[in-house]
Amino acid sequence: MFKQESNSSSKPAPERKEETPMCDVHEGEKINIYCVTHGVPTCSMCKVFGAHKDCEVEPISSIYQTKKTELSDGIAMMVGSNDRMQGIISQLEEACRAIEENGRRQKTLVCEKFDHLYSVLEEKKREMSQVVTAEQEEKADYIRSLTRKYKDHLEESCKTVEMGIQTMEESEMALFLQNTKPLLKKIADASSTAHLDKVERGYENMDHYSVVFNKEAKALRSINFIQDCVYGRPRPTSSPQQMNSSSGLVKSSAST
Ligand SMILES: [Zn+2]
Ligand SMILES: [Zn+2]
Repeated sequence: MFKQESNSSSKPAPERKEETPMCDVHEGEKINIYCVTHGVPTCSMCKVFGAHKDCEVEPISSIYQTKKTELSDGIAMMVGSNDRMQGIISQLEEACRAIEENGRRQKTLVCEKFDHLYSVLEEKKREMSQVVTAEQEEKADYIRSLTRKYKDHLEESCKTVEMGIQTMEESEMALFLQNTKPLLKKIADASSTAHLDKVERGYENMDHYSVVFNKEAKALRSINFIQDCVYGRPRPTSSPQQMNSSSGLVKSSAST
């Protein structure tokens, strides 16, 4: 208010007497009354003789005060409404951040659950592999040791054959007969493989460890992840009151 002369437009209209609008119809008449019927300011001559002679009029100052209060109330209401609008926008922005944060967190949780499920299967896979490996090694060890026994036996037999061939060349009859006795005994012994284990049919089979996961796979495929989630999902609502409370919920859960 210390720059009173600087800006005349900030002064109230009635103080600017020299700028009071004049009547278009009645020359020299100021617009100084208000026609309530038509809702327009007009001049006294218009009320007495002119267009507003049958109208209800009020002093312009009282209508000025009324309208000023009305406009002031309207401005206050708009300011309040704008504040609420700004509040809603802030809540919407906060809700958007919360949605992104919640989505990220939920994805992490879901992935952890899946990882746990994988680990259950991994554990089972490891257990089964260990069991198969144990039997595989046991059987292979047994077969290897049996192979060694057969090789030893074969080596022994080859020696006997060699000795037999050498003995065949012996022309000295007494010497031949001396050598032949233990040799024939050896041949008789060697021809029997009764002391060597026979591998039973299908010993090399490992297919008793097969697994059938048809039921399990079907059960996994039947998990309706999306449908289970939709039932618990709050619907968006057009009511700001409900929106406030739901975004409040989101906010509180996001802060935990
Ligand atoms: Zn007039
Ligand atoms: Zn009128």
